[in-house]
Amino acid sequence: MPSDTTEKVIKGISGSPGICIGKAYLVDKEGVDIIEKYSITEDKVKKEINRFKSAVTKAKNELMDIIKGVSEELRQHAGILETHMVLLKDKMLYGKAIDIIKNELVNSEWALREATSAAKSMFSNIADPYLKSRSADIEHVSERIMRNLVGRKDVNISNIDKRVILVAHSLSPAETSQLQLEKVMGFITDRGGKASHTSIIARTLEIPAVLGLDNATQLIKNDSIIIVDGSEGIVIIDPEEDTLVKYEERSKSYEARKADILRTSDQPAKSADGHLFSIMGNIELPEEVVAVKDHGGEGIGLFRTEFLYLGRMNFPDERELFHQYKEVAELMAPHPVIIRTLDINGDKAISGIPAPEEANPSLGLRAIRFCLKKPTIFKTQLRAILRAAAYGNIRLLLPMISGCEEIRQTLKLIDEAAESLEKDGLAYNRDIQIGIMIEIPSAAIMADAMADLVDFFSIGTNDLVQYTLAIDRVNRHVAYLYNPLHPAVLRLIKHVVDTGKKKHIKTFMCGEMASEIINLPILLGIGLDALSMAPQSIPSIKSMIRKISVSDSKLFLKDVLKQTSALDTMKLITDTYGDILVNGIYNK
Ligand code: PEP
Ligand code: MG
Repeated sequence: MPSDTTEKVIKGISGSPGICIGKAYLVDKEGVDIIEKYSITEDKVKKEINRFKSAVTKAKNELMDIIKGVSEELRQHAGILETHMVLLKDKMLYGKAIDIIKNELVNSEWALREATSAAKSMFSNIADPYLKSRSADIEHVSERIMRNLVGRKDVNISNIDKRVILVAHSLSPAETSQLQLEKVMGFITDRGGKASHTSIIARTLEIPAVLGLDNATQLIKNDSIIIVDGSEGIVIIDPEEDTLVKYEERSKSYEARKADILRTSDQPAKSADGHLFSIMGNIELPEEVVAVKDHGGEGIGLFRTEFLYLGRMNFPDERELFHQYKEVAELMAPHPVIIRTLDINGDKAISGIPAPEEANPSLGLRAIRFCLKKPTIFKTQLRAILRAAAYGNIRLLLPMISGCEEIRQTLKLIDEAAESLEKDGLAYNRDIQIGIMIEIPSAAIMADAMADLVDFFSIGTNDLVQYTLAIDRVNRHVAYLYNPLHPAVLRLIKHVVDTGKKKHIKTFMCGEMASEIINLPILLGIGLDALSMAPQSIPSIKSMIRKISVSDSKLFLKDVLKQTSALDTMKLITDTYGDILVNGIYNK
């Protein structure tokens, strides 16, 4: 490469796979960085509060307009904007800001900033990545109010008039929803991560995206040519001719592979030597069922129900839950829908329940522990699930099980829920399969005893890796150690699957490990019965299964189990299956 090259490669986080090449369009979004603090006198408090309230009303009107204009394709994500509407009046933000104005006699901007940082730090102390990402929602909502307070106009990105790659400091769900999709080839942002809504929306729209680039908005000038490689998480600024040619080729072959794989997504996941696997989708909201079906999913392997409880002022009642579960079961019938009960910790987004002060929330009162401490909340959900089970193929899944006693207590509550439905004369089905998430090492080790109490296992590798390797799954400082191919994790998984087979119960996997094709030869060799993953990953996993022979992968597993590090295992996989993997990298 000539020495006067201006080409620059920057590395971020892969938000959504794919490659695009085009002109940069910088979203001029300065935010409101410098906030002045000034005191007000007591007689001005009412006026100041009214000024704050009027900024909130303007923010609410803006959001309502955006929701009205959301395109059909993004309708399923409008819920995030509705969450923002709720957050506008959240007591942590709205209530707290008003309290600060009143008690500290300060201006609204300062009070809002203080309330925002308090709320954000509370959310960022939560281990669950979804809840953690609520911190970004708080920030977006607060920015919207702040803009209205200081009289700055909302950024309008809805009228871009050419095909561009959007470059932004951060894109809020509201902004992402305003995009005219035919105009946006891809987007990159300084902030954000894989679990952020910007990534989720980009993946739904199948637009390449790289996030968390730190200073892309400073390095990239408007109209400069950039390459976005969403699969690798890199951006190339002002590429050389050779680089352009190389990426144009890559982009073409990526698109061809993707089209090929999508064409066959409704074909069964039958291995090269005839073993049939069930490939299902993970969902958070009923609206995502369509994506699972469109991508060839044969059921819902994990319905993360906590999302229906978040971003609202009260708990959903039994009727609301029942209708949601029934809708999903009916849409998916005759395929199974595995509903996981509430996997949440003491979070303030759920009002009415004081959140416990916890130094280590991921080791704290979350999921089944929380539910067993709050039997009324739990029973409402259990009744709704049993009622919906009368209308489709519903199964129940319990999260964060660490010992047999938690299963016994839950089974007792399920019986009580069924008895109360019987008394109320409501239709229900108690005869449903009940499974547990294997995501804590103690559950994996005790799998034989647990198998006597339940109908199936579902391995949650996201947490199993965290708890086995003692690596906080959201701590970027130790992210380099987070690897499901660690020999200890593989041995635990194998132990669980072997135990399941001995006890004649099925073992599924619904953690992220199941969606990465590099892991497939091992997972098939271990003998999992079904895999569940984000809908967009289903076609490539199904296609890859068709290329692998289970008997070969069983032999391969013997070598895998001799390895002593994740790195050695990774090398063994690429040495043995390299060709197959390269052809399947769509959605890697
Ligand atoms: C897991 O832990 O692997 C899992 C699927 O659950 P979640 O990611 O919701 O904790
Ligand atoms: Mg989990």
